[in-house]
Amino acid sequence: MRLLKTILLSLLTLAQIALCAEDYYKVLGLDKQASERQIKSAYRQLSKKYHPDKNPNDPTAHDKFVLVAEAYEALSDAESRQIYDQYGHEGLKQRKQQGGSGGGHDPFDLFSRFFGGGGHYGNQPGQRRGHNVEVKVPISLRDFYNGRTTEFQWNKQEICEACEGTGAADRVVHTCQTCGGRGVRTVRQQLAPGMVTQVQMQCDACGGRGKSIKHRCSACGGERVVRKPTLVSLTVQRGMADGSRVAYENEADASPDYVAGDLIVTLFEKEPGLEGEDNPDKVDGVFFRRKGDDLFWREILSLREALMGDWTRNITHLDGHVVRLGRKRGQVVQPGHVETVAGEGMPKWDEDGDSVYHKTEFGNLFVEYTVVLPDQMDSGMEKELWALFQKWRAKKGVDLHKDSGRPEKPVIHDEHEHEHEEL
Ligand SMILES: [Zn+2]
Ligand SMILES: [Zn+2]
Repeated sequence: MRLLKTILLSLLTLAQIALCAEDYYKVLGLDKQASERQIKSAYRQLSKKYHPDKNPNDPTAHDKFVLVAEAYEALSDAESRQIYDQYGHEGLKQRKQQGGSGGGHDPFDLFSRFFGGGGHYGNQPGQRRGHNVEVKVPISLRDFYNGRTTEFQWNKQEICEACEGTGAADRVVHTCQTCGGRGVRTVRQQLAPGMVTQVQMQCDACGGRGKSIKHRCSACGGERVVRKPTLVSLTVQRGMADGSRVAYENEADASPDYVAGDLIVTLFEKEPGLEGEDNPDKVDGVFFRRKGDDLFWREILSLREALMGDWTRNITHLDGHVVRLGRKRGQVVQPGHVETVAGEGMPKWDEDGDSVYHKTEFGNLFVEYTVVLPDQMDSGMEKELWALFQKWRAKKGVDLHKDSGRPEKPVIHDEHEHEHEEL
């Protein structure tokens, strides 16, 4: 029995070691070359994913949440990361024993430095939630067609890193002496002789926060938050609609006073640019007009082409493939005719994208033909064409005016009739 206990115990210890010794890069889903920004971004995502408040039915979430925080603390500090890269967990352990700085934060504390609100979500009494922030991001039609991972920047309020959201240069927050940390003070007011009432007022010494600091943080001026340009990664999926909204949970303005709201991004189609980054491949497709899953294009034909046929056109689509239009000799195209090219429209957006489970379907491309007649003709050509038309007109010419049944002469009102009516 005792033996079994010992084995069980040592197994347990082994399991704990295994948990502790997990590779920090793997924990964050990164490799050793990861940038500072990638480490931050991984922490943001994973800490939200494993936050115990969000996984009330998963007892392992707490451990994962703690581990993610541990990995972030080890890798976000340049010195500690170097030690970890060189000596691994053992190196960090020794550093800690020698009283080295960094690490050892409460994982919820760390979480609150990113998302505010004391490290917990709004399901606790008295927990405030910040406003959602709406951002509009212009996306080219080309990116809507092909899909793309891109970035956009906005001016985000973040919890000051220098003072870790305390507002104090030394990161030490004291209890307000004036109000004793209650944020309010009671004032006695005399309404009339012998009539006294007590009124509660916000403490002016601490602004109602119940806390005070000795030295203001120079980075945020004691505000505890700073606004700075922040890059956000955005994945545009193939065929997403113009006006699609993408929500980033708890990525809006952060503050120690509340849990950050959501950042809501609306994608809208921007006007195509003639040159440059919008059209590096110089494709015609950037000038397509989109309506839902369909695309529209106007193609210009000369009189000869419209009348005689025997022409081709290559339209370079948004991904560079070519759509071929054309008519054989003798095939007439009427001005304003709209041709439907099936399957050459936008990809139809689907949750699964292009995968084994799902094959992307496409809308239609509608090509409208405009026929341009020459303003002027070479006089020789004009003569020849005139003669040609005269010849065929005489043989089997159609007189559209006669066929229309419209009157030959102007219609004149019969004045006598009017007189009759008046009588
Ligand atoms: Zn600060
Ligand atoms: Zn106070």
